[in-house]
Amino acid sequence: MKAENWKAEILCVGTELLLGDIVNTNARELSAALRGMGIGVYWQSVVGDNPDRLRQAARIAGERANLIITTGGLGPTYDDLTKDIVCEVFGAKLVLHEEEAEKIRAFFAQKNREMPENNLRQAMLPEGCTVFSNGNGTAPGFAFTAGETTVIQLPGPPREMRLMLETGVIPYLRGATDEILLSRDIRIFGLGESSVEAKLHDYMESLTNPTLAPYAGTAEVRLRATAKAPDEAAAERMLEPVVAKVRAELGDLVYAVDEDKLESVCLRLLKEKGLTFAAAESCTGGLIAKRFTDQSGASSAFMGGVVCYTNYVKHHVLGVPQETLDEFGAVSAQTAKAMAEGVRRVCGSDLAVSVTGCAGPNSDERGTPVGTGFVGFASPEGTVVKPIQMGKDREWARVYAASFAFDLIRRYLTGCL
Ligand code: ATP
Ligand code: MG
Repeated sequence: MKAENWKAEILCVGTELLLGDIVNTNARELSAALRGMGIGVYWQSVVGDNPDRLRQAARIAGERANLIITTGGLGPTYDDLTKDIVCEVFGAKLVLHEEEAEKIRAFFAQKNREMPENNLRQAMLPEGCTVFSNGNGTAPGFAFTAGETTVIQLPGPPREMRLMLETGVIPYLRGATDEILLSRDIRIFGLGESSVEAKLHDYMESLTNPTLAPYAGTAEVRLRATAKAPDEAAAERMLEPVVAKVRAELGDLVYAVDEDKLESVCLRLLKEKGLTFAAAESCTGGLIAKRFTDQSGASSAFMGGVVCYTNYVKHHVLGVPQETLDEFGAVSAQTAKAMAEGVRRVCGSDLAVSVTGCAGPNSDERGTPVGTGFVGFASPEGTVVKPIQMGKDREWARVYAASFAFDLIRRYLTGCL
């Protein structure tokens, strides 16, 4: 079946979900996985552990969807009735699955525990079904077909469901689907979304498969190229020219393809070259240090930083000359330059960045317009300072300024500063 011919419904069973005791993470994860395969999820429903309402929900799902995935209620206890009822609705006969029965017996034997007879109920599975073994528990999941409809039943506990989704369900659905969807995440820094769209509008319009579409990033632009193809290799071949075209149009504004963030690109490049950096942060208040050290392995590339919020610290810790501060102000190219050079010296790093700006909502005592900022970058070859426009939203301004600093590091290390 083609991916686009599936109409999926996710049916989650559990009274706790209806009571608001737990969040329906299973539905979210299943939807995301199906979307990744190009399978449309048309409905998500939730029903409590009640036989009549579950029967009704399963019937409704059977009328409108041709792929139904249930979670919850596969356990051994009396209130776990999803399997019995759903199988009854779709006319699937439950038989003892000897292999699964053996696994459940072995599970208890290994733990030196007596197996309650109840547990064998978990090995009663629809005749001829595909079994998904449970790597994190005992209740197996399974898939069966009833006429045009495919029914997949999975356990409720998220860690059991998740592992089974990855190891069982996704491969099963890929096998049952003729086409796959593959995407490339193209990440762009330094140009607004509307400018990116303007440059690529006609090209985007001309594409049908693969498609190319912008989507939201924080203080950056992301483009997603998506190909529908019989297999992964074919999809990759189709995506190559699209990525090449975007790179040709946008050049070094493209900072990564399928790589997570600006800071992860910086970490990779710094490690490759065996270089370190330090940061002098005024208006970002430590965000550069925070974002970089969120990554494991950051210690090999980050010497440290100074949050120099006041002129006192800029002068006394980083050695920004008092005359520079007096003459040009804290938010100035001259101060940004001295901050970058100062933190590089104090921290003993190869490279350094600095950020000073007026993040708002109020302007500083000199009346510097809100959103004015400067980012400095110091290296053994010298120091450069770039003026930036950070906008009026404080949070956005900080993210943008920190990203700008990372982008200067990225540019220096890839020879396009
Ligand atoms: P068990 O063998 O543990 O009884 P089960 O397959 O019968 O598993 P449930 O009894 O319905 O599943 O749910 C077990 C636990 O899993 C719930 O208490 C809840 O914490 C979690 N859970 C169930 N459904 C969901 C869901 N849709 N999203 C997130 N968590 C869930
Ligand atoms: Mg249960």
